[in-house]
Amino acid sequence: MNDNLLFVLGVFLVIAFIVTIVNYKKLGSKFNRSYSGEISLKEIKNFYFKKQYCNHCNQKLIRVHDKEFIEEGWDNINGTHFYGKKYKVKTYLKCQECQKKYKLEDLMKE
Ligand SMILES: [Zn+2]
Repeated sequence: MNDNLLFVLGVFLVIAFIVTIVNYKKLGSKFNRSYSGEISLKEIKNFYFKKQYCNHCNQKLIRVHDKEFIEEGWDNINGTHFYGKKYKVKTYLKCQECQKKYKLEDLMKE
C-alpha cells in the first residue's frame, strides 16, 4: 500500500518535471526581454542635458523610445544566460506640434 503511494508520487513528480522542461522555453520567452541601444556618451549628454527645439515651430522636443524586435533566442547579460525576446531600442526626439521626428545624430550636427 505504502509502496504504491510512493510509486504514484514518483510518477507524478516525473510528469511535473517533464512539463516544466517543455514549458521552460515558452515561459522564458514570455517573461524575459532584453534591450540594447546604440547611444554614445556624447549623445546622452546632448540628449538629456540640452533642451532641443523643433526647427519648424520652435516647440520643445519630447524624448521617444522606440522598441524594435530583433529576434527570440538566448541572451547573456552580465554572465546570466536566459531565453527571451531581444529588442533594440531606438531613441529619438519628437515635436508635439508638427510630429516631426529628429534623430540624435541629426541634432548633433547642428
Ligand atoms: Zn515642429
